[in-house]
Amino acid sequence: MLICPNCKYEYINGITICPDCREYIVDSASHIQPKELVEKDWLIIYTSNREYELQMFKDNLTSAGIDTIIFSQRDRNFPTPGDMSVISLLVKKEQAEEAANFINEVLRS
Ligand SMILES: [Zn+2]
Repeated sequence: MLICPNCKYEYINGITICPDCREYIVDSASHIQPKELVEKDWLIIYTSNREYELQMFKDNLTSAGIDTIIFSQRDRNFPTPGDMSVISLLVKKEQAEEAANFINEVLRS
């Protein structure tokens, strides 16, 4: 379950920032903040403006044992000139290769 750490409001998958508090949405199971993770060893593995596509990869990677985070580039940590609706899928550095192979596999099929 995804919650805002500030107002504790529950969000559906794909939402990254609470519209009310501007706080990063966290997974209540892990209490890990995407912002902290991005500053650590997380890499953008895939970007798209189609949220359902990222969600599909996230679901698939999660079931394959790969941790992922969906991150909206509307955040100012990722300034994107041009398309402001680009959303990123992040994975841990050590699982990046595995995740990339997985995504390539899915894209090929
Ligand atoms: Zn909030």
